[in-house]
Amino acid sequence: KSEFNSGEVKIAPISDWVSNLQRPLVISGPCSAETEEQVMQTCQQLAATGKVDVLRAGIWKPRTRPNNFEGVGTIGLEWLKKAKEATGLMTAVEVANKQHVEEALKHGVDILWIGARTTVNPFSVQEIADALQDVDVPVLIKNPINADLELWLGAIERISGAGITKLGAIHRGFAKYGETKYRNAPQWQLPIELKRRLPDLPMICDPSHICGNRELIAEVSQQAMDLNYTGLIIESHINPDKALSDAKQQVVPERLAQIINELVLRDGYS
Ligand code: PEP
Ligand code: MN
Repeated sequence: KSEFNSGEVKIAPISDWVSNLQRPLVISGPCSAETEEQVMQTCQQLAATGKVDVLRAGIWKPRTRPNNFEGVGTIGLEWLKKAKEATGLMTAVEVANKQHVEEALKHGVDILWIGARTTVNPFSVQEIADALQDVDVPVLIKNPINADLELWLGAIERISGAGITKLGAIHRGFAKYGETKYRNAPQWQLPIELKRRLPDLPMICDPSHICGNRELIAEVSQQAMDLNYTGLIIESHINPDKALSDAKQQVVPERLAQIINELVLRDGYS
């Protein structure tokens, strides 16, 4: 088994790319941008809680089965820009190829993330890395949908290889066949091992995609805090049950604030 040389991955402190870093860093917003009104209202309500640092929204959606909502595309980037101007929240979107990277950067998106269905594919990750040469933007890398630590590390190495130092990992759970309590089992041992190999890497938990339903989100968020995670990425929507994707797991902004407020933050959190 090849031991990954973590010394080769340079990681900037998160305070280099998030100002007034809160405890925890909170990224929230809809699974998918659907309409300008939905993006703007969600963002305004999130900003009003004072608990959220970054607005997230999917623009191009990788759907498991065809004939589902596949995202609004580039127009959604205009809505994010307006929401950012109105509230001052930073913005984050998922990118899966070179065109996504170029469009997102052109529209002033602050943070890019690589989704679980893209991290599994070294060709796609390398294409994204190539598009990021000479760009200074934070990139968050979700774990691959399968429990393969080397694939997760490999994606981080590829993005690092493009010269990106503003890096973070998103733990979104791992797919398992059959019905389980979770949509994607957390398998905490994988992110713990990743953190052992890359101690400076900010870890962000995505309880929404782990749980698959909104009832479990507070419990998994607390577990992430107990493990000293840096942040949380939690899906929120002004009308979750009517969401065009991931309806069961989204929460209203008010509930998001309550989940964050009720977290017990233990000593030694970093
Ligand atoms: C998402 O964040 O909406 C998403 C598609 O997540 P994942 O890549 O983790 O499935
Ligand atoms: Mn989603």
